[in-house]
Amino acid sequence: MSSVFDQIISKEIPADIIYETEICLAFRDINPKAPEHILIIPKKPITKLSEAKPEDLQLLGQLMLAVGEVARILHVDEEGFRVIINNGRNAGQTVFHLHLHLLAGRRFDWPGL
Ligand code: 5GP
Repeated sequence: MSSVFDQIISKEIPADIIYETEICLAFRDINPKAPEHILIIPKKPITKLSEAKPEDLQLLGQLMLAVGEVARILHVDEEGFRVIINNGRNAGQTVFHLHLHLLAGRRFDWPGL
């Protein structure tokens, strides 16, 4: 099942892209929950984290490394940031294409935002 993120990957709909490789894309969230709110997604259409397979092991690692790249691009790697993955209905996942939220630019409560 395709999602709005597939259309962002194919550039059918615009997004404020800040980092892109062969396997992943990072762009600003349309409804930011912090001064910096970036979504980091694989180009491969994995619906959610729990649907990732053993063959996605390297891809998942590359997404984690992309978080660090994005944090350095935003200059928030020193001050800190939060990374969130919503998996499924109870977590509030609304777009069924795996994505990591990188939130930065303010302090965050724990737990909660
Ligand atoms: P979820 O709730 O699934 O973890 O997060 C989905 C995120 O995608 C939300 O924070 C929402 O604001 C963002 N989003 C939904 N549609 C679009 C879109 O068309 N463009 C961008 N840039 N972000 C979107």
